[in-house]
Amino acid sequence: MTATADVLVIGGGIIGGSVAFHLLAREPRLRVTLLEREAETGTGSTSKATGGVRTDKDIKPGLDATVDWEPFAAVFGAAARRVPPLAEAKVMRAYAGIPDLTPDYHGTLGPARQAPGFYVAYGFSGHGFMHAPAIGILMAEVVLDGRASSMDIDALSLDRFGAGHLRAEANMF
Ligand SMILES: Cc1cc2nc3c(=O)[nH]c(=O)nc-3n(C[C@H](O)[C@H](O)[C@H](O)COP(=O)(O)OP(=O)(O)OC[C@H]3O[C@@H](n4cnc5c(N)ncnc54)[C@H](O)[C@@H]3O)c2cc1C
Repeated sequence: MTATADVLVIGGGIIGGSVAFHLLAREPRLRVTLLEREAETGTGSTSKATGGVRTDKDIKPGLDATVDWEPFAAVFGAAARRVPPLAEAKVMRAYAGIPDLTPDYHGTLGPARQAPGFYVAYGFSGHGFMHAPAIGILMAEVVLDGRASSMDIDALSLDRFGAGHLRAEANMF
């Protein structure tokens, strides 16, 4: 790893990986460094978006990651009625966490104008995996060209919160 970089990408999940990929796809000579605090990339939400049972039980605000087993019986019962072999399935692992929801349930994408040179791509909740390829392309445009050209991303700007321009997503998950 070099001591200097043209672009530092913080977080080696699907979003950071896609951003780094598309920056280099556009500008192969760019020095892009991907920072990940864990020993491996992709161990955050990205690794949790694969097959599983999601109970989505509301929890109290806070960072309590204790698994609440109570909703599992109802979810498993419903799954087994729909797909009978699932009645034999066993839980391999369980975890609890907090979805990265924004007040309007949309992701946030683009420059943090009060901190020039700092850009954000967060808050994609339950749809970040499928949006990641497009987010990488758009962030590469924002960083390299100063604006996104593939689509208008103003509605996803960080500024919308202060300006009160929130259009809540109805089909939030
Ligand atoms: C149960 C579940 C089911 C889901 N199902 C779907 C689905 O069906 N379809 C879909 O599109 N999406 C789904 N998602 C959402 C999707 O997984 C996320 O939106 C997406 O993975 C977010 O990617 P990310 O890169 O932003 O975050 P992460 O994968 O969490 O990556 C962030 C990374 O940043 C690192 N990091 C944090 N702080 C620092 C720091 N200070 N310095 C360095 N590194 C740092 C973390 O270690 C982590 O590796 C699901 C999520 C969950 C939890």
